[in-house]
Amino acid sequence: MTDTPSGSRTLEVALGSRSYPIHIGPGLLGTPAALAPWLAGRQVMIVTNATVAPLYLERCRAALPADAEVRELVLPDGEATKTLEHVSRIWDALLEAGFNRRCTLVALGGGVIGDMVGFAAACYQRGVAFIQVPTTLLAQVDSSVGGKTGVNHPLGKNMIGAFWQPRAVLIDTDTLATLPARELSAGLAEVIKYGLIRDADFLAWLERSLPELRALEPAALAHAIERSCALKAEIVAADETEQGVRALLNLGHTFGHAIEAHQGYGAWLHGEAVGAGMLMAAELSARLGWLASADVDRVEALLEAAALPTAAPAAMGVEDFLARMRLDKKNIDSRLRLVLLRALGAACVHDATPEATLRELLEHFPR
Ligand code: NAD
Ligand code: MG
Repeated sequence: MTDTPSGSRTLEVALGSRSYPIHIGPGLLGTPAALAPWLAGRQVMIVTNATVAPLYLERCRAALPADAEVRELVLPDGEATKTLEHVSRIWDALLEAGFNRRCTLVALGGGVIGDMVGFAAACYQRGVAFIQVPTTLLAQVDSSVGGKTGVNHPLGKNMIGAFWQPRAVLIDTDTLATLPARELSAGLAEVIKYGLIRDADFLAWLERSLPELRALEPAALAHAIERSCALKAEIVAADETEQGVRALLNLGHTFGHAIEAHQGYGAWLHGEAVGAGMLMAAELSARLGWLASADVDRVEALLEAAALPTAAPAAMGVEDFLARMRLDKKNIDSRLRLVLLRALGAACVHDATPEATLRELLEHFPR
Protein backbone atom coordinates (compact mmCIF):
# COMPACT_ATOMS: atom_id res chain seq x y z
CA MET A 1 0.00 0.00 0.00
CA THR A 2 1.21 3.54 -0.77
CA ASP A 3 0.03 6.88 0.62
CA THR A 4 -0.01 10.12 -1.37
CA PRO A 5 0.09 13.68 -0.03
CA SER A 6 -3.58 14.23 -0.95
CA GLY A 7 -4.56 11.48 1.51
CA SER A 8 -5.44 8.89 -1.08
CA ARG A 9 -4.11 5.33 -0.86
CA THR A 10 -3.37 2.75 -3.50
CA LEU A 11 -3.52 -1.05 -3.32
CA GLU A 12 -2.84 -3.56 -6.03
CA VAL A 13 -4.76 -6.61 -7.19
CA ALA A 14 -1.89 -8.93 -8.14
CA LEU A 15 -2.85 -10.88 -11.24
CA GLY A 16 0.37 -10.93 -13.24
CA SER A 17 0.05 -9.00 -16.48
CA ARG A 18 -3.57 -8.19 -15.59
CA SER A 19 -2.70 -6.60 -12.23
CA TYR A 20 -4.40 -3.31 -11.47
CA PRO A 21 -4.48 -0.58 -8.87
CA ILE A 22 -7.31 0.39 -6.53
CA HIS A 23 -7.14 4.09 -5.60
CA ILE A 24 -9.09 5.15 -2.53
CA GLY A 25 -9.56 8.67 -1.29
CA PRO A 26 -11.70 11.79 -1.08
CA GLY A 27 -12.00 14.12 -4.06
CA LEU A 28 -10.48 11.73 -6.62
CA LEU A 29 -13.21 12.41 -9.17
CA GLY A 30 -12.62 16.14 -9.14
CA THR A 31 -8.89 15.67 -9.80
CA PRO A 32 -8.03 16.67 -13.37
CA ALA A 33 -6.91 13.70 -15.50
CA ALA A 34 -7.15 11.29 -12.53
CA LEU A 35 -8.34 8.61 -14.96
CA ALA A 36 -5.71 9.36 -17.62
CA PRO A 37 -3.12 6.68 -16.72
CA TRP A 38 -5.48 3.78 -17.53
CA LEU A 39 -7.02 4.88 -20.79
CA ALA A 40 -6.22 2.56 -23.69
CA GLY A 41 -6.55 5.43 -26.18
CA ARG A 42 -8.46 8.67 -26.64
CA GLN A 43 -11.94 7.13 -27.08
CA VAL A 44 -13.76 7.00 -23.74
CA MET A 45 -17.37 6.16 -22.93
CA ILE A 46 -18.73 6.88 -19.46
CA VAL A 47 -21.72 4.68 -18.66
CA THR A 48 -23.85 5.59 -15.66
CA ASN A 49 -27.49 5.70 -14.59
CA ALA A 50 -30.18 8.34 -14.20
CA THR A 51 -29.65 8.64 -10.42
CA VAL A 52 -25.87 8.92 -10.46
CA ALA A 53 -25.52 11.09 -13.59
CA PRO A 54 -26.82 14.34 -12.07
CA LEU A 55 -24.65 13.77 -8.99
CA TYR A 56 -21.27 12.70 -10.41
CA LEU A 57 -21.13 12.68 -14.21
CA GLU A 58 -19.61 16.13 -14.45
CA ARG A 59 -16.91 15.31 -11.88
CA CYS A 60 -16.15 12.09 -13.73
CA ARG A 61 -15.76 14.00 -16.99
CA ALA A 62 -13.36 16.35 -15.19
CA ALA A 63 -11.18 13.37 -14.27
CA LEU A 64 -10.48 12.69 -17.97
CA PRO A 65 -7.75 14.40 -19.99
CA ALA A 66 -8.78 17.38 -22.11
CA ASP A 67 -7.95 15.65 -25.39
CA ALA A 68 -10.13 12.57 -24.73
CA GLU A 69 -13.01 11.91 -27.14
CA VAL A 70 -15.73 11.42 -24.53
CA ARG A 71 -19.21 9.92 -25.01
CA GLU A 72 -21.76 9.40 -22.27
CA LEU A 73 -24.54 6.89 -21.89
CA VAL A 74 -27.12 7.22 -19.12
CA LEU A 75 -29.14 4.04 -18.47
CA PRO A 76 -32.23 3.71 -16.24
CA ASP A 77 -31.57 2.96 -12.55
CA GLY A 78 -32.25 -0.39 -10.89
CA GLU A 79 -31.42 -4.09 -10.75
CA ALA A 80 -34.13 -4.63 -13.40
CA THR A 81 -31.87 -2.96 -15.97
CA LYS A 82 -29.10 -5.53 -15.42
CA THR A 83 -30.07 -7.36 -18.60
CA LEU A 84 -28.52 -8.30 -21.92
CA GLU A 85 -30.87 -5.82 -23.55
CA HIS A 86 -29.27 -2.92 -21.70
CA VAL A 87 -25.77 -4.23 -22.37
CA SER A 88 -26.79 -4.21 -26.02
CA ARG A 89 -27.56 -0.52 -25.70
CA ILE A 90 -23.96 0.02 -24.61
CA TRP A 91 -22.69 -1.91 -27.65
CA ASP A 92 -25.05 0.10 -29.91
CA ALA A 93 -23.66 3.37 -28.54
CA LEU A 94 -20.05 2.18 -28.98
CA LEU A 95 -20.66 1.13 -32.59
CA GLU A 96 -22.59 4.29 -33.42
CA ALA A 97 -19.70 6.33 -32.05
CA GLY A 98 -17.28 4.31 -34.20
CA PHE A 99 -15.28 3.23 -31.14
CA ASN A 100 -12.44 0.79 -31.84
CA ARG A 101 -10.52 -1.79 -29.80
CA ARG A 102 -8.50 0.91 -28.08
CA CYS A 103 -11.54 2.52 -26.48
CA THR A 104 -12.09 2.57 -22.70
CA LEU A 105 -15.39 2.17 -20.87
CA VAL A 106 -15.84 3.91 -17.52
CA ALA A 107 -18.42 2.37 -15.16
CA LEU A 108 -19.73 5.18 -12.95
CA GLY A 109 -22.24 3.89 -10.39
CA GLY A 110 -23.10 0.99 -8.11
CA GLY A 111 -22.68 -2.72 -8.70
CA VAL A 112 -25.42 -2.88 -11.31
CA ILE A 113 -23.60 -0.44 -13.59
CA GLY A 114 -20.21 -2.00 -12.81
CA ASP A 115 -21.35 -5.54 -13.63
CA MET A 116 -23.05 -4.47 -16.88
CA VAL A 117 -20.28 -2.21 -18.13
CA GLY A 118 -17.64 -4.81 -17.30
CA PHE A 119 -19.55 -7.42 -19.28
CA ALA A 120 -20.04 -5.00 -22.18
CA ALA A 121 -16.27 -4.36 -22.16
CA ALA A 122 -15.47 -8.09 -21.99
CA CYS A 123 -17.39 -8.74 -25.21
CA TYR A 124 -17.04 -5.56 -27.28
CA GLN A 125 -14.67 -6.41 -30.12
CA ARG A 126 -13.56 -9.43 -28.01
CA GLY A 127 -12.53 -7.29 -25.05
CA VAL A 128 -11.69 -3.64 -24.41
CA ALA A 129 -10.38 -1.71 -21.43
CA PHE A 130 -12.67 -0.59 -18.62
CA ILE A 131 -12.30 1.37 -15.40
CA GLN A 132 -14.49 0.93 -12.35
CA VAL A 133 -15.63 4.11 -10.58
CA PRO A 134 -17.88 2.63 -7.88
CA THR A 135 -20.21 5.02 -6.05
CA THR A 136 -21.98 2.74 -3.54
CA LEU A 137 -20.22 1.28 -0.51
CA LEU A 138 -21.11 -2.21 -1.73
CA ALA A 139 -19.52 -1.57 -5.11
CA GLN A 140 -16.47 0.04 -3.50
CA VAL A 141 -15.72 -2.87 -1.18
CA ASP A 142 -16.99 -5.74 -3.26
CA SER A 143 -18.35 -5.70 -6.82
CA SER A 144 -15.79 -3.38 -8.43
CA VAL A 145 -12.88 -5.58 -7.34
CA GLY A 146 -12.31 -9.07 -8.69
CA GLY A 147 -13.46 -9.12 -12.30
CA LYS A 148 -16.82 -10.83 -12.04
CA THR A 149 -19.05 -9.15 -14.62
CA GLY A 150 -22.44 -10.04 -16.03
CA VAL A 151 -26.18 -9.66 -16.19
CA ASN A 152 -29.31 -11.36 -14.90
CA HIS A 153 -31.39 -13.83 -16.93
CA PRO A 154 -35.16 -14.16 -16.43
CA LEU A 155 -34.42 -17.62 -14.98
CA GLY A 156 -31.63 -16.59 -12.62
CA LYS A 157 -29.57 -13.77 -11.17
CA ASN A 158 -26.03 -13.23 -12.57
CA MET A 159 -26.44 -16.26 -14.83
CA ILE A 160 -24.76 -14.71 -17.90
CA GLY A 161 -21.30 -13.26 -17.47
CA ALA A 162 -17.55 -13.35 -17.78
CA PHE A 163 -14.42 -12.83 -15.73
CA TRP A 164 -12.97 -9.57 -17.04
CA GLN A 165 -10.65 -7.47 -14.90
CA PRO A 166 -10.75 -3.66 -14.96
CA ARG A 167 -7.65 -1.56 -15.71
CA ALA A 168 -8.14 0.32 -12.45
CA VAL A 169 -10.65 0.98 -9.68
CA LEU A 170 -11.06 4.59 -8.61
CA ILE A 171 -12.91 4.96 -5.30
CA ASP A 172 -13.89 8.52 -4.45
CA THR A 173 -15.09 8.24 -0.86
CA ASP A 174 -16.90 11.60 -1.17
CA THR A 175 -19.57 9.92 -3.31
CA LEU A 176 -20.93 8.13 -0.24
CA ALA A 177 -22.30 11.42 1.09
CA THR A 178 -25.38 11.08 -1.12
CA LEU A 179 -25.96 7.37 -0.62
CA PRO A 180 -29.24 6.45 1.14
CA ALA A 181 -28.60 5.12 4.69
CA ARG A 182 -30.12 1.75 3.84
CA GLU A 183 -27.68 1.28 0.96
CA LEU A 184 -24.81 2.26 3.28
CA SER A 185 -25.84 -0.44 5.76
CA ALA A 186 -26.07 -2.98 2.95
CA GLY A 187 -22.46 -2.18 2.04
CA LEU A 188 -21.43 -2.47 5.69
CA ALA A 189 -22.67 -6.08 5.67
CA GLU A 190 -19.96 -6.99 3.15
CA VAL A 191 -17.37 -5.02 5.17
CA ILE A 192 -18.30 -6.99 8.30
CA LYS A 193 -18.08 -10.15 6.20
CA TYR A 194 -14.37 -9.57 5.48
CA GLY A 195 -13.63 -9.26 9.18
CA LEU A 196 -15.59 -12.41 9.99
CA ILE A 197 -13.98 -14.58 7.34
CA ARG A 198 -10.38 -13.47 7.58
CA ASP A 199 -9.37 -10.70 9.94
CA ALA A 200 -10.22 -10.75 13.67
CA ASP A 201 -8.33 -7.47 14.28
CA PHE A 202 -10.37 -5.71 11.61
CA LEU A 203 -13.52 -7.16 13.18
CA ALA A 204 -12.54 -5.69 16.56
CA TRP A 205 -11.81 -2.35 14.87
CA LEU A 206 -15.27 -2.46 13.27
CA GLU A 207 -16.88 -3.07 16.64
CA ARG A 208 -15.30 0.17 17.85
CA SER A 209 -15.82 2.16 14.64
CA LEU A 210 -19.33 1.46 13.39
CA PRO A 211 -20.78 4.73 14.71
CA GLU A 212 -18.08 6.68 12.85
CA LEU A 213 -18.68 4.68 9.70
CA ARG A 214 -22.41 5.32 9.79
CA ALA A 215 -21.65 9.03 10.29
CA LEU A 216 -19.40 8.88 7.18
CA GLU A 217 -16.33 9.97 9.12
CA PRO A 218 -13.72 10.16 6.30
CA ALA A 219 -10.74 8.49 7.99
CA ALA A 220 -12.87 5.59 9.26
CA LEU A 221 -14.49 5.11 5.86
CA ALA A 222 -11.16 5.13 4.07
CA HIS A 223 -9.77 2.51 6.45
CA ALA A 224 -12.82 0.25 6.18
CA ILE A 225 -12.78 0.42 2.37
CA GLU A 226 -9.05 -0.11 2.18
CA ARG A 227 -9.03 -3.13 4.50
CA SER A 228 -12.02 -4.64 2.67
CA CYS A 229 -10.43 -4.15 -0.75
CA ALA A 230 -7.10 -5.52 0.49
CA LEU A 231 -8.78 -8.67 1.82
CA LYS A 232 -10.78 -9.15 -1.37
CA ALA A 233 -7.71 -8.47 -3.54
CA GLU A 234 -5.74 -11.08 -1.60
CA ILE A 235 -8.43 -13.70 -2.10
CA VAL A 236 -8.94 -12.87 -5.79
CA ALA A 237 -5.19 -12.98 -6.43
CA ALA A 238 -5.08 -16.45 -4.86
CA ASP A 239 -8.14 -17.76 -6.72
CA GLU A 240 -9.33 -15.57 -9.60
CA THR A 241 -12.05 -17.88 -10.93
CA GLU A 242 -13.40 -19.34 -7.66
CA GLN A 243 -11.94 -22.84 -7.64
CA GLY A 244 -11.15 -22.67 -3.92
CA VAL A 245 -10.62 -19.94 -1.33
CA ARG A 246 -12.76 -17.35 -3.20
CA ALA A 247 -15.83 -19.31 -2.07
CA LEU A 248 -15.25 -17.97 1.46
CA LEU A 249 -16.52 -14.60 0.21
CA ASN A 250 -19.94 -16.24 0.23
CA LEU A 251 -20.26 -16.25 4.03
CA GLY A 252 -23.94 -15.65 4.80
CA HIS A 253 -24.82 -15.76 1.11
CA THR A 254 -26.46 -19.21 0.93
CA PHE A 255 -28.94 -18.18 3.63
CA GLY A 256 -29.03 -14.64 2.19
CA HIS A 257 -29.81 -15.71 -1.38
CA ALA A 258 -32.61 -17.91 -0.05
CA ILE A 259 -34.11 -14.87 1.73
CA GLU A 260 -33.71 -12.59 -1.32
CA ALA A 261 -35.29 -15.09 -3.68
CA HIS A 262 -38.11 -16.02 -1.31
CA GLN A 263 -39.02 -12.39 -0.61
CA GLY A 264 -38.74 -11.43 -4.29
CA TYR A 265 -35.55 -9.66 -5.37
CA GLY A 266 -35.48 -6.07 -4.18
CA ALA A 267 -37.71 -6.49 -1.11
CA TRP A 268 -34.59 -7.06 1.01
CA LEU A 269 -31.37 -5.45 -0.20
CA HIS A 270 -28.64 -8.00 -0.88
CA GLY A 271 -26.55 -6.73 2.04
CA GLU A 272 -29.53 -6.96 4.40
CA ALA A 273 -30.11 -10.59 3.45
CA VAL A 274 -26.38 -11.30 3.82
CA GLY A 275 -26.44 -9.65 7.26
CA ALA A 276 -29.14 -11.98 8.55
CA GLY A 277 -27.45 -14.84 6.67
CA MET A 278 -24.13 -14.25 8.43
CA LEU A 279 -25.83 -14.42 11.80
CA MET A 280 -27.45 -17.71 10.72
CA ALA A 281 -24.02 -19.04 9.66
CA ALA A 282 -22.57 -17.94 13.01
CA GLU A 283 -25.38 -19.66 14.93
CA LEU A 284 -24.93 -22.83 12.92
CA SER A 285 -21.20 -22.70 13.61
CA ALA A 286 -22.02 -22.47 17.32
CA ARG A 287 -24.34 -25.49 17.04
CA LEU A 288 -21.42 -27.39 15.49
CA GLY A 289 -19.35 -26.46 18.53
CA TRP A 290 -16.98 -24.07 16.75
CA LEU A 291 -18.15 -20.71 18.12
CA ALA A 292 -19.05 -19.78 21.69
CA SER A 293 -22.40 -18.14 22.29
CA ALA A 294 -20.49 -14.95 23.23
CA ASP A 295 -19.04 -14.96 19.68
CA VAL A 296 -22.52 -15.16 18.20
CA ASP A 297 -23.58 -12.28 20.45
CA ARG A 298 -20.71 -10.20 19.07
CA VAL A 299 -21.86 -10.85 15.50
CA GLU A 300 -25.40 -9.90 16.42
CA ALA A 301 -24.32 -6.69 18.14
CA LEU A 302 -22.20 -5.71 15.16
CA LEU A 303 -25.11 -6.22 12.76
CA GLU A 304 -27.36 -4.19 15.03
CA ALA A 305 -24.81 -1.38 15.14
CA ALA A 306 -24.79 -1.40 11.32
CA ALA A 307 -28.62 -1.21 11.25
CA LEU A 308 -28.83 -4.62 9.58
CA PRO A 309 -31.50 -7.26 10.22
CA THR A 310 -30.84 -9.95 12.84
CA ALA A 311 -33.97 -11.99 12.16
CA ALA A 312 -35.24 -13.88 9.13
CA PRO A 313 -38.47 -12.88 7.33
CA ALA A 314 -41.53 -13.73 9.40
CA ALA A 315 -43.19 -15.83 6.74
CA MET A 316 -40.16 -17.94 5.84
CA GLY A 317 -40.38 -21.52 7.07
CA VAL A 318 -37.76 -24.25 7.38
CA GLU A 319 -38.78 -25.87 4.08
CA ASP A 320 -38.67 -22.52 2.29
CA PHE A 321 -35.05 -22.16 3.34
CA LEU A 322 -34.06 -25.72 2.53
CA ALA A 323 -35.64 -25.70 -0.93
CA ARG A 324 -33.81 -22.51 -1.91
CA MET A 325 -30.53 -23.53 -0.33
CA ARG A 326 -30.44 -26.77 -2.31
CA LEU A 327 -30.22 -24.67 -5.50
CA ASP A 328 -27.03 -22.89 -4.37
CA LYS A 329 -24.21 -22.75 -6.95
CA LYS A 330 -21.63 -23.88 -4.37
CA ASN A 331 -23.28 -27.28 -3.90
CA ILE A 332 -21.51 -30.21 -5.53
CA ASP A 333 -23.33 -33.47 -6.32
CA SER A 334 -26.35 -32.33 -4.28
CA ARG A 335 -24.26 -31.96 -1.07
CA LEU A 336 -25.04 -28.68 0.67
CA ARG A 337 -21.81 -26.68 0.99
CA LEU A 338 -21.89 -23.83 3.49
CA VAL A 339 -19.37 -21.20 4.46
CA LEU A 340 -19.14 -21.38 8.25
CA LEU A 341 -16.91 -19.97 10.98
CA ARG A 342 -14.27 -22.04 12.77
CA ALA A 343 -13.67 -18.91 14.84
CA LEU A 344 -14.37 -15.19 14.41
CA GLY A 345 -11.95 -14.22 11.65
CA ALA A 346 -11.56 -17.75 10.26
CA ALA A 347 -14.09 -19.09 7.76
CA CYS A 348 -14.19 -22.50 6.09
CA VAL A 349 -16.29 -24.30 3.51
CA HIS A 350 -18.12 -27.20 5.11
CA ASP A 351 -20.19 -29.89 3.41
CA ALA A 352 -20.95 -32.20 6.30
CA THR A 353 -23.50 -30.31 8.39
CA PRO A 354 -26.00 -32.91 9.64
CA GLU A 355 -29.41 -32.09 8.22
CA ALA A 356 -30.94 -32.31 11.70
CA THR A 357 -28.59 -29.57 12.97
CA LEU A 358 -29.45 -27.32 10.05
CA ARG A 359 -33.16 -27.91 10.61
CA GLU A 360 -32.80 -27.05 14.30
CA LEU A 361 -31.09 -23.80 13.41
CA LEU A 362 -33.76 -22.88 10.86
CA GLU A 363 -36.50 -23.71 13.33
CA HIS A 364 -35.07 -21.70 16.20
CA PHE A 365 -33.64 -18.71 14.37
CA PRO A 366 -35.73 -15.61 15.21
CA ARG A 367 -38.32 -14.37 12.75
P1 NAD B 1 -26.99 -0.51 -7.28
O1 NAD B 1 -25.97 -0.44 -8.32
O2 NAD B 1 -28.38 -0.80 -7.69
O3 NAD B 1 -26.97 0.83 -6.42
C1 NAD B 1 -27.89 1.02 -5.37
C2 NAD B 1 -28.68 2.32 -5.54
O4 NAD B 1 -27.84 3.43 -5.20
C3 NAD B 1 -29.12 2.58 -6.97
O5 NAD B 1 -30.38 3.17 -6.96
C4 NAD B 1 -28.07 3.57 -7.48
O6 NAD B 1 -28.52 4.35 -8.56
C5 NAD B 1 -27.85 4.39 -6.25
N1 NAD B 1 -26.57 5.09 -6.16
C6 NAD B 1 -25.36 4.67 -6.59
N2 NAD B 1 -24.41 5.49 -6.16
C7 NAD B 1 -25.02 6.48 -5.47
C8 NAD B 1 -24.55 7.62 -4.78
N3 NAD B 1 -23.25 7.87 -4.66
N4 NAD B 1 -25.46 8.43 -4.21
C9 NAD B 1 -26.78 8.14 -4.26
N5 NAD B 1 -27.29 7.05 -4.87
C10 NAD B 1 -26.40 6.24 -5.47
O7 NAD B 1 -26.62 -1.62 -6.17
P2 NAD B 1 -25.25 -2.03 -5.47
O8 NAD B 1 -25.62 -2.46 -4.13
O9 NAD B 1 -24.19 -1.03 -5.65
O10 NAD B 1 -24.80 -3.30 -6.32
C11 NAD B 1 -25.62 -4.44 -6.40
C12 NAD B 1 -25.28 -5.21 -7.65
O11 NAD B 1 -23.91 -5.61 -7.58
C13 NAD B 1 -26.08 -6.48 -7.84
O12 NAD B 1 -26.51 -6.57 -9.17
C14 NAD B 1 -25.10 -7.59 -7.53
O13 NAD B 1 -25.37 -8.79 -8.25
C15 NAD B 1 -23.81 -6.98 -7.95
N6 NAD B 1 -22.62 -7.54 -7.27
C16 NAD B 1 -21.60 -7.95 -8.04
C17 NAD B 1 -20.45 -8.44 -7.46
C18 NAD B 1 -19.29 -8.84 -8.31
O14 NAD B 1 -18.33 -9.43 -7.81
N7 NAD B 1 -19.29 -8.48 -9.57
C19 NAD B 1 -20.37 -8.54 -6.07
C20 NAD B 1 -21.43 -8.09 -5.30
C21 NAD B 1 -22.56 -7.60 -5.92
MG1 MG C 1 -22.46 -10.21 -1.68
